[in-house]
Amino acid sequence: MAETNNHPPLDGNALVALSLRRAGVDRMFGVVGIPVTALATRAVTLGVRFIAFHNEQSAGYAASAYGYLTGRPGILLTVSGPGCVHGLAGVSNAAVNAWPMIMISGSCDQGYFGRGDFQELDQVEAVKPFSKLSVRVRDIKEVPRCVFEVIGKAGSGRPGGCYLDLPTDVLHQTVSEAEAEELLVEAEKGVEKEVIGIVGQSEIEKAVSLLRHAERPLIVFGKGAAIARAENGLKKLVETTGIPFLPTPMGKGLLPDTHELAATAARSLAIGKCDVALIVGARLNWLLHFGEPPKWSKDVKFILVDISKEEIELRKPCLGLVGDAAKVVEMINKEIKDDPFCLGKTHPWVEAIQKKANENVSKMEAQLAKDVVPFNFLTPMRIIRDAILGVGSPAPIVVSEGANTMDVGRSVLVQTEPRTRLDAGTWGTMGVGLGYCIAAAVASPDRLVVAVEGDSGFGFSAMEVECIGLELLQTQRVCLVEFVIVHLLHQNVTPCISAVRSTLVRYQLPVVVIVFNNGGVYGGDRRSPEEITGPFKDDPAPTSFVPGAAYHLLIEAFGGKGYLVGTPDELKSALTESFAARKPAVINVTIDPYAGAESGRLQHKN
Ligand code: ADP
Repeated sequence: MAETNNHPPLDGNALVALSLRRAGVDRMFGVVGIPVTALATRAVTLGVRFIAFHNEQSAGYAASAYGYLTGRPGILLTVSGPGCVHGLAGVSNAAVNAWPMIMISGSCDQGYFGRGDFQELDQVEAVKPFSKLSVRVRDIKEVPRCVFEVIGKAGSGRPGGCYLDLPTDVLHQTVSEAEAEELLVEAEKGVEKEVIGIVGQSEIEKAVSLLRHAERPLIVFGKGAAIARAENGLKKLVETTGIPFLPTPMGKGLLPDTHELAATAARSLAIGKCDVALIVGARLNWLLHFGEPPKWSKDVKFILVDISKEEIELRKPCLGLVGDAAKVVEMINKEIKDDPFCLGKTHPWVEAIQKKANENVSKMEAQLAKDVVPFNFLTPMRIIRDAILGVGSPAPIVVSEGANTMDVGRSVLVQTEPRTRLDAGTWGTMGVGLGYCIAAAVASPDRLVVAVEGDSGFGFSAMEVECIGLELLQTQRVCLVEFVIVHLLHQNVTPCISAVRSTLVRYQLPVVVIVFNNGGVYGGDRRSPEEITGPFKDDPAPTSFVPGAAYHLLIEAFGGKGYLVGTPDELKSALTESFAARKPAVINVTIDPYAGAESGRLQHKN
């Protein structure tokens, strides 16, 4: 296509980058290579921060969590074929957790498809089962429309993953700058978002009446309420009505865990005995025992608030309110304001919950108070909890994965602010840790990020510590910059210092990764003598890793700080130093290999 106005034409990579920027994208995660390297480079020149990973899987997890934390689709960029397949992990994670995310992958040349082209795969079909929308751009002129379409789709209605396929031949086509501008303007006009119905006033009245007349009401909220930023409305609802509340694992922090109406420590009683449960942005899936006996009473009346009509139809609640959680809660609050009711502190239900919660907290605190060495899971978790609470506001974002580490962490660590907990989520995905840490640090630069991980979970993506480590030793970096500058000056070349720097400095994210190292999945080799038979009996157990692995040294390879700790004093000192430094660190905590249970709290499923 001809050049106009002396501006060079834009190729497909440049037009995708420009379209993303125009659609408001300012952060991307990914791995570059054929045929999309120029897309990332161009995006950076347009003001997009590109976080380069080692593996698309971790980058995809990062993009999904970024979508959750910000409410805007996280963007994953991958190469074709295997890059796209690795990225599927991220898109599927976004789909199952209902988080907004877009995977953008280069793909093989359309003209050679079916003849064994480089990294050939029908990527649109491969991603379809995990995405709300999976589209191939067939001509450069479709680029802006397709970009705006996937962004509109991923972020509206029930959030989820979308996929954009960029064939190599399309990336090599060109358009003039003037034509690109016309296409962009057209695309901006045509953005379509999923329409969410407005809940009728009569349904709100029904919901309030159910809550008002309940003897044992309960409010449950989850990550749908978090993504809707419903925390202020929920606080008002809980505090004006005096109804106890229960957060799901990632709903923790929407109201502080320390709130006097928190039923977290009396969970079994709360869900087992409540007669009306208002569930806001949480699914009645395995995490909430499908809303069925024996965990729930068979007579409980559910009021479900969810943005997805299908979700409500699936669960068949007593009352379903389809809509955005923040808006629906606001409507409920408004309705209550006209005729307020409050259970009050002496209400038998509130008293029963508080009594049970206090008993359970006291029992747990008695266990936590002991300094057990070699470490069990509780002693280091208490020390970490206290260190995190000591940071104050803004509270750190806690990333948690592993079987025992995550289970114990969920009970012991205290969440005081919304969206400060990321864990294995609805899909029970292990290996999300490092990606989530990086996403959290990028999404909330003012917060410290603390990962509390099992050694198995950490191992899935441990190489990404280079991405947080990203700090060449300060002296090394300065020497290298000076060397390049002096060298260039010597040759009478004026160096562009920022360009030199950008090649040398990675992201230096304030992430402290704490690895609970018990030498394997659930612990080390736990086989009974009868199980150790067969031709490979001398191999370690399938659950074992190298005992005493020096995980802390990994980060030191990249200029971060590593700590090996095995006593309370050593752990406290490492936490104090690394939290204050706000620099990448890995704390390798030696745990008794016999301390954890196989499969954590899900033993019945193994
Ligand atoms: P949790 O794991 O915390 O129990 P789930 O992921 O199971 O939460 O459920 C979250 C629910 O929230 C999903 O069914 C999703 O459709 C819904 N959701 C997502 N965004 C919103 C929103 N803005 N308002 C209301 N519900 C939402």
